[in-house]
Formats: sequence, C-alpha cells, structure tokens
Amino acid sequence: MNFKKITQTLFFCFFFFSLSIFAQKLSYTVGFEAPHTHYCEVEVRVTGNNKDFLDFKLPVWAPGSYLVREFAKNVEQEQATDGDGKALKFGKTSKSVWRVQTKGVKEVVFRYKVYAYEHSVRTSFIDASHGYLNGTSVFTYVEGLQNQPLTLTVKPHKDWKKISTGMSSINNDPFQLEAPNYDVFVDSPLEIGNQKIYDFKAAGIPHKISMYGEGNYNEQTLTSDVAKIVEASTSIFGENPCKDYTFIVHNVHQGGGGLEHLNSTSLIRQRWGYNTKGGYLGWLGLVAHEYFHLWNVKRLRPEPLGPFDYQNENYTRQLWISEGFTSYYTHKILRKAGFNEDSEFIQNVQDDISYHENSQGSRVQSVAESSFDAWIKGYRPNENSSNSTISYYGSGSRMGAILDLIVINGSDAQYSLDDVMKEMYLEYYKKQNRPFTEVEFRKMVEKFAKTDLTEFFDKHIYGTAKLDYGKYLGYAGLSFNEFPNRGTALGASLSEEGGKLMIKALNKAEAGYLSGLNVNDEIIGVDGFRMSNSLLRSYLETKRPNDKISVLLSRDFKIQTLEVALTVPSSYTYSISQGALRPNEKQEKVYRKWTGM
Ligand SMILES: [Zn+2]
Repeated sequence: MNFKKITQTLFFCFFFFSLSIFAQKLSYTVGFEAPHTHYCEVEVRVTGNNKDFLDFKLPVWAPGSYLVREFAKNVEQEQATDGDGKALKFGKTSKSVWRVQTKGVKEVVFRYKVYAYEHSVRTSFIDASHGYLNGTSVFTYVEGLQNQPLTLTVKPHKDWKKISTGMSSINNDPFQLEAPNYDVFVDSPLEIGNQKIYDFKAAGIPHKISMYGEGNYNEQTLTSDVAKIVEASTSIFGENPCKDYTFIVHNVHQGGGGLEHLNSTSLIRQRWGYNTKGGYLGWLGLVAHEYFHLWNVKRLRPEPLGPFDYQNENYTRQLWISEGFTSYYTHKILRKAGFNEDSEFIQNVQDDISYHENSQGSRVQSVAESSFDAWIKGYRPNENSSNSTISYYGSGSRMGAILDLIVINGSDAQYSLDDVMKEMYLEYYKKQNRPFTEVEFRKMVEKFAKTDLTEFFDKHIYGTAKLDYGKYLGYAGLSFNEFPNRGTALGASLSEEGGKLMIKALNKAEAGYLSGLNVNDEIIGVDGFRMSNSLLRSYLETKRPNDKISVLLSRDFKIQTLEVALTVPSSYTYSISQGALRPNEKQEKVYRKWTGM
C-alpha cells in the first residue's frame, strides 16, 4: 500500500474504532418500589452492543473490607431482554456471573432485584426509612466495559426526598448521576431518604455530613470539629485531591465502624454516644481514620490493591501500612487538630504496644502475614484467633509510631513519617499513578531515616521478633517500662449462658489451656463449689500460682473432673514515661517533632 492508502485506511480504522467506542452506552437504574420489603430493583442497560453474549458480574467483595462476602446470594428475579422488551436467553456461568446471549442485538437490558437487609458499612440496607447502597453489593459490571463512563438514575421511594453520595450529578438533578468508570461508581455509596445534611467548607473544599437517624450531637460543633480534622489531615499531604467530600453517617442503637471511599466515607455510630468525652473522641477518631484513607489506600495504594479483581481475593502484605498507619495517624491527627494533649497521644501509642505484646498471636504471626491472611483470618476470627493472629490495625499502628521515631531520630528531627507518606503519595499516586511495592515503601522510609532498614523489616515486619521499645522511645528521651502482672491466671474467657458457665476462649500461655480445658466446656463447679463468672474470679484471688484446682465440667454433656494447675498471668503492664535523666538537646528535638507536630 502506498502512503496515501495507508493514511486512508488508518483514518477509517480510527473512525470506526471511535464509533464503536462512543456508540456504546452503559446506564444503570435503581428503584425502591417497596422499601419495607428490603428490596431494590436494578436495571443495567447496554446500548450499541456488538457482541454475541455479555457477561454481567457482581463483585464478591467490597474494597476496603477484605472478606469474600458473596453478594450474589442476595440477587433474584433476573431478566434479560433486548431494547424492545423481547426476552433474551441467559444463565449463570458461576456463582456471580450471568451470561446473556445477545445474538448481537444493539440494546441489552439486564434486570434483577437485590435483597438488602444487612446493616454494615460494607453491605447494603433498605427499610421503610431509607436506603443505603454499597455499589459492589448491588450493581453488576459488564465484562469488557469496566472502563466505560456510565450513568445512574435513582428512583427514590415516593416519601424520600434526599440523596447523599460522592458521585457527580448531571444537570443539577441529584437523582441523575454519572461516573467515569465502574471503579468510581462502586466506590461511591448512596444514602437515599430524608437524612439531615450539614454543609461546610474546609481545606478549600465543600464537605457534607449526611446524618441518618437521631443523635445527641451538636450541629455547630459537629461541622467545626470535623473541619479541624479535614485541615489537619490535609496539612500532612500538603494538598487535598477531592473536589468535594461526603460523610454518610448512620446513627443507630448498636454497632459501629467506617469504610473509606474515593471522596466519601460511610460511618456507623451509636446515636447517644456523642456527649461523653470518650464517645466524642471515638467519633472524631473514626472521622480522622476514614478521612486519612482518602490519601492512604484510596490513592496511595499498595500492590495489588488496584485495579481490583472483583471476583477474587486481592492479596497484599501491606495492610499494616494501609490500615495500621491510618490508625497511627488517627492519634496524630487528633493531636494535630488539638483534641488531644501530648500525654493522650503517648497513651494511645502505649495502648497499641500493650495490645501487641499481650497478644499471644504476636509471637506467631507477623504484621505482613496478618495483612496477607486478612481474608481467611482477620475477617474470620474463631476461638483460637487471639492465640494465633494479631490485628494489622493495632500492631501496624505501633509500627507507625516506632518508624516515625526512627525517621525523626535518623534525620536529626528534620523529617518525620509525615514526609515519608507525603513523598509516597506524590511519587506513586501523583507522578507515576500506580500502586507501590513493598521494597519501594522500605526504600522511602530509609531515604528519610537516612539508614538501612533491611534487617529491621526482616525481623519486625516479616518476622515476629520483639521490638526494643526502650531504644526507640529513648530517641525522644522517654523510657519504656514493663512489669509482669501479679496474681493467678486460669486464662479462660467465660460467659454465662442460660445459667451455664461456658468457656469461650483460652489463652495458650495460661493454666486452663495448659491443663487441658477446652473451648465449649461448661464449668459446673470448682473444688466442690458451684461457680458463676464473678464467684470464680473471687475464688481464684485466694489462690497462688502452682496451686491446683479441681474443675467439674461438662464436655459434650459428659461430666468429668480435670485438675488444673494455676499459672502466673502471661500479660505484662507496659508504660511509657519521661526518662529518669534530663533529655539532651537532640532528644528534646525528637520529642517535640514526634508529639508537638
Ligand atoms: Zn481503615
């Protein structure tokens, strides 16, 4: 072909290619005809189809919550038609995939109903008063069209007037929404009902707090305190990438939690929990945690958390950074925003250390393993979990505090962990726009700490070696103290159920476990006396380590006696205090940088 022909051919190829891209349209509709039945009606419409079949797939998990939840279990009454309503053949090819035989028709409509009655930040919930939808549990994607821009029409129940979501509206119609792709679509939960909405501006960005349910919060302080958290968080990264941000809050009798999204978050709080100091700090801490996520995990992502595989587990060894550091930054942001003093910040770090060191699981599971196995261990705890696992939240938060001290000390108080997080965000999100690897993270910490941390990571991130807390806290002139707890230990978590005293968990380093008690044993009596939980506690106070007690128990309804040799408690009391000596100039600088922010 000559040059002219090649150009012509290329032009027509491009022309038809463009046509085929732009001709395809993807639109979703969700309705709430009878919300008291907890169902919503979903429609997915593809126009400009040119395939013989289309696969409609529902995710099995919600990003940010690392558990396969099998959302397809709530889908029913599926239908597939062409644009004229003529039925198309379809069937499931796996637990969460529906294949529609389109035979090339231009318009394909897939409809189904979703039962939504699980109230959590990761699932969807609909009742007469409101609808809360988490995209991955409701909306299927169309294989091959995940990157296609799409629209969503929300048809609210007739009594519902408001909608809150991070998605953009079309033509100022709040119930007509659009997203550039499926990832953004399902990363924008929807709250539809008659919630109260409070607007405020912080870090130069419009924010909304959408409050479902009554609560004893004060409207004025609510927005001004959340604004302080927004400002303190933004100051760490130097910029806020959101055009707007929405807090969706559910005030309920029981429950709690939060889930991060691209430019929104969902929070569940106890409705009367705002008016005590602890309750209010808990609320602000939750806000700080989820807000910090808009950088750490929503944009600064560890490999392979993005692009997501919605059909399978997405394994990463770095949740101790994504979640653990976010928990550490919860402490830092509360301090930076002025809600906590130095002493409270240090107390929070002390609590994280105590949690880690007093968990038997910290001897057998590293923070990297805890991250990787979140799917089968962290999110699926059983009676042995405290003996075999640790939480990447608390243990990772503790690691954040220590690495912060290492960076501040190594840089002579020039840098802190803030600089590591900011540079990671600028380099891997802004500049390279890709997830970071484990080695890249270590190298970034090393750059600011001006020291090689290969051995530290091998021992304490990928291994379970105990940290020398005294050494690192000593950088800030603080001393670390540990004392074994006194008394005797049976090491059994007990609960009274229907008049029976049942063993729910056993500490593997204490008496009950070592002598052969089992979880699910019923303790009928000890040394000839009937026992309740409190009676047994009082009775054990009269005993000394190595004393023996005779336990009458029922195991699978078979009565038996077991001799248990009491042990000392395996737990320690850990505390951080001002050092005995006056701190030197460098220690003072490190302390100020660490706590003074
Ligand atoms: Zn989190």
